[in-house]
Amino acid sequence: MVRGTHIMKQDFKDDFFEMMRLIVESASLAFARAADGEANILKNNTIGNKDGWLYKKDKNLIFRADLRKSLLCTDPGYIYGLSCTCCDETNHKYLLDVVKTDLGHLTFSNLWVNSNFNLFHEHFFETLKKSKKDIVKQLGKIYSC
Ligand SMILES: [Zn+2]
Repeated sequence: MVRGTHIMKQDFKDDFFEMMRLIVESASLAFARAADGEANILKNNTIGNKDGWLYKKDKNLIFRADLRKSLLCTDPGYIYGLSCTCCDETNHKYLLDVVKTDLGHLTFSNLWVNSNFNLFHEHFFETLKKSKKDIVKQLGKIYSC
């Protein structure tokens, strides 16, 4: 673990390359992303998406409580990606109030896409290979290594 050296700067490119460095150098690392879907669940608004999941207002309150708890981690190996201010400032501010970690552990939920999409294709899988770490990939409901 590279403790105390996570230096997310809330800059798309800098944070992307910091995440690449952490993938290689950290003993353990989590990147949990929260954006408009998670924010609306926490606000108890009915919301779903084309992937087929659906949160119903006042119906999934245990899930909502567990989601809120999942945003409270302050472990040094845990990085959160929140909505960016340029695309969704309202939910960015909302989620920023929910999380308890410091800014050094916060970046953007869309770190792999939008203006970083080409960087993701160019560097992500090479970085995973370079790390020589076991990879757990979720494929629907089947988990494989
Ligand atoms: Zn944006």
